Amino acid sequence: MPSHASRNHGFSAVYRLLLFSLACGLVAGQEAPQVKKWKIAVATFSHETCTFCPDPTTIEDWEYYGPPTRDIIRADRGYIGGFRAACEEYGGVELVGILSPRGARGGSSGSWLTREAFEKYAGLIVEDLKAQGPFDGVFLALHGAMAVTGIPKPEAELARRVRRAVGKIPIMVTFDLHANEDEEIAEAADAVFIIKRYPHYDTTLTGETAARVMIQTLRSRYKPVMAVRKPGVITPSVFQGTGTSPAMEIMERARIWECEHPGAYVSVAFGFAYADVPDAGATVIVVTNDNKALADRIADDMSAYIWRLRHVFAGKKLPRTKEGVALAIAAAREGKTPVIVADHSDRTGGSTHILEELIRQGARNFCIATLRDERALEAIKARHKKGDSVSMRVGGWTDKFAGNPVQIEGKIECLGQIGRETIAVVLFGAGNRIILTPQLMQVTDTRIFEALGLDVKAMEIVVLKSRVHFRRGFADTGLAGAIIEIDAPGWGPADLTTLPYQNIPKDVYPVYKKD
Ligand SMILES: [Zn+2]
Repeated sequence: MPSHASRNHGFSAVYRLLLFSLACGLVAGQEAPQVKKWKIAVATFSHETCTFCPDPTTIEDWEYYGPPTRDIIRADRGYIGGFRAACEEYGGVELVGILSPRGARGGSSGSWLTREAFEKYAGLIVEDLKAQGPFDGVFLALHGAMAVTGIPKPEAELARRVRRAVGKIPIMVTFDLHANEDEEIAEAADAVFIIKRYPHYDTTLTGETAARVMIQTLRSRYKPVMAVRKPGVITPSVFQGTGTSPAMEIMERARIWECEHPGAYVSVAFGFAYADVPDAGATVIVVTNDNKALADRIADDMSAYIWRLRHVFAGKKLPRTKEGVALAIAAAREGKTPVIVADHSDRTGGSTHILEELIRQGARNFCIATLRDERALEAIKARHKKGDSVSMRVGGWTDKFAGNPVQIEGKIECLGQIGRETIAVVLFGAGNRIILTPQLMQVTDTRIFEALGLDVKAMEIVVLKSRVHFRRGFADTGLAGAIIEIDAPGWGPADLTTLPYQNIPKDVYPVYKKD
């Protein structure tokens, strides 16, 4: 019988040979003749539409859509970066970038996409797929909360058009967890994967997952089947952070199902409540390897679980402006600085309710980061330079809930460019600042302060136009001394029953169903 020693010797000889081969590139993957080369198209068309906001999203609002957008396949992070990385691991995959609209101005402060905008950009994707095909598979990196005038479920519509262009090959889709979707996307695409974290830490991981399932499907080792459920619960973004309850428990339950059943992919989109669309509200989408019964069982369980948590998930209460500002000032006096205030309901970026109340209650050393006012910026650019004294009115006009313009007597502390945008900092009162931007800017980390030479740690109160994403740079890093979420008037309220919905399902909790 062979001794341990000889076995070990045999193993290490093979191992040394393998190392040698790797070093010589003999088994590096791409060169191996038996590997079939898969040709996979990659496209993206993303928008999170605030249908209550005033300004429609038009063709002109996309900054990039020409041939350079085919470079999306060079991404090293995000859905497409993750997809690319996993494909490179497998080897034998050729990724082809498809013309894709990028850089929607104002992000989710944009209202309904015009039908022309959807037709133009969906049309570019479809035409480019035909021009560069045929393909073995298509990866669509989408958001899921797009709303288009006259097209009720635009992501499903896009997937159907892609299907008509490419035929019966796997179409894999990734979504943001703010997606509003339903059964239609499962009929149009082969598999759907949704991020599980808000802030969205796991876009790259989710792209990798989509690539793995794509490759296994192309190798006939995986046959995706899906189950979709709508639990009938709609929730405001501010309650959806997955570092807090019950969003955290919902995603943990999805992960437990995935651990128990390798090859099952359990996704929950909490939905985007500020898009008034027929598929608004939470969606559960489960993908399994040819096991519809399992997909149904998991989807039923997840859907029932979300329904059981509806009261705590959708029905929390937040302080209104006056009370919230008083809490922030009290926290600052207790030394819990910087106090981070989430002005979560301002969807257009120019609301002044919290600014006005901070001044009224005598707050000092606070910073509004940011206030959207392109008109004020134009006036500053035309007449002033850094260091000038200014007397001006700012904010309060970007939507009907944006409050009053606020009169400021101060000085221009900073005037410069960040990226393509002009930005100004106005210093006024007892060390207070307003960072003026030409469009809604959701500050999620400290980079803007660093770029402007401002020390955020030295500030007492910092007001951010953000719901949950700010937690990435301010809470999860331990920077914030305290966090106060304030429910000021705005098109993104925590109490969804105040919104003038017309299109969402008529049985959804808490807007229509009360218990
Ligand atoms: Zn999102």
